[in-house]
Order: sequence, then C-alpha cells, then structure tokens
Amino acid sequence: MQKVRAILIGRMQPIHNGHMQIINEILNEVDEIIIGIGSAQLSHEIKDPFTAGERIVMINQALADEGVDPSRYYIIPMQDINFNAIWVSHVKMLTPPFTIVYSGNSLVKQLFAEEGFEVRQPPLYDRMHLSGTEVRRRILEDDNWQELVPKATVNVLNEINGVERIKNLSIKEISDI
Ligand code: NAD
Repeated sequence: MQKVRAILIGRMQPIHNGHMQIINEILNEVDEIIIGIGSAQLSHEIKDPFTAGERIVMINQALADEGVDPSRYYIIPMQDINFNAIWVSHVKMLTPPFTIVYSGNSLVKQLFAEEGFEVRQPPLYDRMHLSGTEVRRRILEDDNWQELVPKATVNVLNEINGVERIKNLSIKEISDI
C-alpha cells in the first residue's frame, strides 16, 4: 500500500519541546514525515542563530533519543526564495512526494492550500513558553531554557558554544544601532 507522507516546515531556531510533540503527533497520523528546516540560509543572527546543519543534528539526535525509527523521517534543509508564488514548487523540488502539510504558519498554510494540498493545523502546545522566541529570550537572560527543549538541543548548544553565540549576537545588534 502507498505510504502517506506529510511535511512540517519550520525555522526551528532552536528545536523545542513543542516541535517534538507535534512531530510525534504527526507520526501517529501518517507513515512518514518530512521535516523541512526552513530559512536554511540563515544563521548567526539574533532571531536565527543556528545553521541548518546544527538544527539537523538537534532534530536527528532528539528523534534518536526518543527511539523513532529513522526510516520514518527525512530532514531536509530548505532555503527561502524571494517569490512566495513559486515557493511550494521549490519545496516540492527538494523533497520526496507528500500529500499533507502540517503548519500553524498562516502564509505556509495559504501557499500550500492554493496548490491543492491537504493542510492540517496542528494544536499548539503551551505556546506561552514553547516558542523559539521564548527559548532565545531565556538564553539571553540566563533563565531556565533547558526545560523547554529536548536534551539534544542542550547538547548541540554546549558543543557549539551556542549560549555564548546568542549573547555575542545580541551585543553586536545593540552596538550596530
Ligand atoms: P516555527 O519553527 O516557528 O514553527 C514550525 C511549526 O512548528 C509551526 O507551523 C507549528 O505547527 C509547529 N510549532 C511551533 N511551536 C509549537 C508548539 N508550541 N506546539 C506545537 N507545535 C508548534 O517556523 P515557521 O516560522 O512556521 O517556519 C516557516 C518557514 O517557512 C520559515 O523558514 C519561512 O521563511 C519559510 N517560508 C519561506 C517562504 C519563501 O521562501 N518564499 C514562504 C513561506 C514560508
């Protein structure tokens, strides 16, 4: 029987427990998930501190830690393009075929719906705390960010001096004003 494959695209700066919860939910509903690492060209910016490669390691390790079968997911970096009208074609060119799109992002939902895809709005878990913005804010303020992310994200940040990177980027941003 043909496999049902779905896609979830996110900047994932960084991977947090909300991303992990939704990936697990999607894996309960479909056979395979494509995890698109959005804005793959961006890194070393205060809102986009981590490279696509660093984000890939975070997700890959987090899924391995949860014992998810690696044959059920694809992790694919995707650069932004300037043309929203052809972005869906760009995504399709980079990925295995899929029929379902999971997203909470209104532009993403609109672009895929216009191209005839089935779009599903996943629930948002504890959005007050489970967002990349909140994780980065806590890192800057030496608050407990570790409780919002999987162990793999903590490990990668330790490996790359990620906390120091975010703090340096924020100093640079202030001095550039
Ligand atoms: P994100 O990391 O904020 O979120 C990704 C997804 O994770 C969301 O859609 C949501 O479903 C899920 N999620 C996040 N927090 C959650 C929580 N607490 N609980 C449950 N689920 C949660 O990323 P995003 O901003 O939505 O990423 C969209 C990407 O698509 C960006 O990289 C954007 O640049 C790209 N994009 C590019 C173009 C273009 O190049 N023209 C057009 C549209 C979108």
